Amino acid sequence: MYHDVTIVGGGCVGLSVAKHLSELTDLDVAVLEKEHHLAAHQSGRNSGVLHPGFNYPQGSKKARFAIEGTSRMKEYCAEHDIPCDEHGVLVVAQDDSEEARLDDLARQAEANGVEYELLDSQTEIREHEPYAAGKAALYAPEAASVDSQQYVYELAREVQDAGVDLYTGYEVTRVEKMAGGYHLATTNGHFEAMYLVNAAGLHADELAHQVGVGERYQVVPFRGEYYEVRPESADLCRTMIYPTPDPELPFLGVHYTRRTDGKIIVGPNAVLAFGREAYDNTDINPRDLYETLTYEGFRKLLSSKLMVKVAWDEINKSYRKEKFTEASQRLVPDIRSEDLQQSYAGIRAQLVSDDGELVKDPLFVERENAVHILNAVSPGLTSSLPFGEHIAETLAEKI
Ligand SMILES: Cc1cc2nc3c(=O)[nH]c(=O)nc-3n(C[C@H](O)[C@H](O)[C@H](O)COP(=O)(O)OP(=O)(O)OC[C@H]3O[C@@H](n4cnc5c(N)ncnc54)[C@H](O)[C@@H]3O)c2cc1C
Repeated sequence: MYHDVTIVGGGCVGLSVAKHLSELTDLDVAVLEKEHHLAAHQSGRNSGVLHPGFNYPQGSKKARFAIEGTSRMKEYCAEHDIPCDEHGVLVVAQDDSEEARLDDLARQAEANGVEYELLDSQTEIREHEPYAAGKAALYAPEAASVDSQQYVYELAREVQDAGVDLYTGYEVTRVEKMAGGYHLATTNGHFEAMYLVNAAGLHADELAHQVGVGERYQVVPFRGEYYEVRPESADLCRTMIYPTPDPELPFLGVHYTRRTDGKIIVGPNAVLAFGREAYDNTDINPRDLYETLTYEGFRKLLSSKLMVKVAWDEINKSYRKEKFTEASQRLVPDIRSEDLQQSYAGIRAQLVSDDGELVKDPLFVERENAVHILNAVSPGLTSSLPFGEHIAETLAEKI
């Protein structure tokens, strides 16, 4: 099968690239997705929050894509009838050092043009969230909750209407460079393409390595597990309650999110997954686990005492519900273990460099008629429209 452009991966990023390519060019575009259903991985297993951009440094790619992405996603959801509730987020500080960090966030929000309000007493916090505890908070009204699965399916419908061929149940097993393009072996036959977009999420590094790209990086899978607040206790959180982010730590701590279906989810934690798709804490993929444990970058990452402590805390939250409950009680002291029932999990495709750094910014590599998206890092859902457009423009320029 021949197509001018073949995109591997039908998550929100791959489909957004397809959408923008079909709008910008007349090329014959195909998307190859290994699963029979869409949104089976990161794009359908997340918190579904549109992050308006107050916690990313001014001028960074993350800030630019998140700010633009939030407003474009809201428009897109309104136009396409996708559930999206703009009820804002409350970032709560528990002590003086966290309160000082809130001031940094406020300055960043100001610089990025993101709306915010600083609340400096428990009384003001309780006007927003009657059960939240803290001595100060930043309220960002533009944060919103979206149904990420409906969003992915809508993108898929839209690109198919625009003439893109979407193949589900086609796993790319081998990528090879050939004269004038690429040859792709899949579980359902062979494809050829002049241009390749690698948007394979948790497997993007594996495909890139096959053609000698991004060899100093590897995906290390970090599982994020959620609990759901039982419906009878769901009034413990009205909107979204977040801890103050710690710039030293790679992931935000456990937080509360009201989803568009009214469920309150608590999480995610961030524990090393024993496989790229090991969604349960008893799942093990020996090959993936071996690759992670023998990866130089991972070993260097774990040489930091801080990372070992974080890893230990997160493992405890995964295997001991009382530890997860304790983390949840930091924000909402009235929550009890029996209010929480186990829910779904997602796995972050966290890119780690061979010198042990967690790559924090979005990263893509252009090479010989191809774009490899190696790090569509969170808030990748929020950013997916401008990020996908940027990749499509990069490719259109080559052509
Ligand atoms: C727990 C968690 C919470 C998050 N919360 C948020 C949030 O609240 N807000 C936010 O903005 N972002 C959030 N994110 C980040 C966001 O979900 C991701 O950045 C985004 O979904 C990445 O999209 P993607 O298309 O790159 O990846 P994916 O959705 O993983 O898509 C990649 C696709 O490629 C397919 N694929 C892989 N290998 C192959 C192959 N060999 N052949 C064919 N197909 C293949 C996969 O099946 C998959 O469908 C969260 C992520 C996680 C894990």
